[in-house]
Amino acid sequence: VAKESGDRYLRYREEYDSASDEQARLGAELRTALDAGQFRVYYQPVVELPNGRFRAVEALVRWEHPTRGLVAPDQFIPTAERNGLIVELGTWVLRTACAQAARWIAELGDLAPDRVSVNVSARQLNQPGFAHVVTAALTETGLSAERLIVEVTETAVFNGRRAVQTLDELRTLGVRIALDDFGTGHSSLGLLQTVPVDILKVDKSFVSNITMAGRHAVIATALIQVADGLGLTAVAEGVETAEQAAELHRLGYRLAQGYHFGRPGPNLALDLAGPH
Ligand code: C2E
Ligand code: CA
Ligand code: CA
Ligand code: CA
Repeated sequence: VAKESGDRYLRYREEYDSASDEQARLGAELRTALDAGQFRVYYQPVVELPNGRFRAVEALVRWEHPTRGLVAPDQFIPTAERNGLIVELGTWVLRTACAQAARWIAELGDLAPDRVSVNVSARQLNQPGFAHVVTAALTETGLSAERLIVEVTETAVFNGRRAVQTLDELRTLGVRIALDDFGTGHSSLGLLQTVPVDILKVDKSFVSNITMAGRHAVIATALIQVADGLGLTAVAEGVETAEQAAELHRLGYRLAQGYHFGRPGPNLALDLAGPH
């Protein structure tokens, strides 16, 4: 028995080591990729319901790997968060998105999206002087603060003493704050009492079954009521069908994002065409 459990332990050690080796290797690769300019920012439209008019874009990072092709953020953001590279990568995404938004405004005028939304991780939000990083990106690109939205998750806000103060500083600049994946955290409603936010991004898990009678529609209704009651803007995430869009509109949602309206892409041309 002792031998058997010893084997099991060894096997466990091997798996554990290879998992952390894998982490370390990926972490090093990400560093190289950043230096080599292999990251791209894709943009997904946020539209008005029911007309589908284009209102904003969310910046979503991609890794253009030389052999593996386009790598989704779920495959590397967690590692970048663990090894700290997310701070540098996130700053790069922020500057790239602000520069792109400024370019669209210069080129497209009224057709340009009003706002660009950038995801910010816990590490970034809790780094000293994050508000200065944002100010620098805005100054450098000439984008006005009112055109920027910073998206944070509940865990990012929850796990940092600095976070609330930083969010206050950003809002003083004129930057808007969106609470991402709203409704999926431990204390979504509790956070709203203390955290300064402007926008609630209602998680796609509440949207996906909204057209079937049941819990999802009830929760989606409750969440839009919370947003309205607090004077916040709600955005429904992950809208994939016309039926979902119609139902969300009926429930009172005025803004939505999802494959039905446009997938993330390297530029706006595709998105502007939309499904209509
Ligand atoms: P998120 O911030 O919740 O972004 C929305 C995700 O849902 C995106 O996945 C988007 O492509 C996907 N999506 C949009 N519409 C639909 C739809 O109709 N149906 C479905 N099933 N999915 C939809 P993506 O681009 O793979 O990003 C995944 C996550 O990676 C993001 O979730 C965000 O948490 C993180 N992420 C992406 N870019 C960045 C970044 O620059 N910085 C940080 N810190 N995180 C990022
Ligand atoms: Ca987001
Ligand atoms: Ca989200
Ligand atoms: Ca998410």
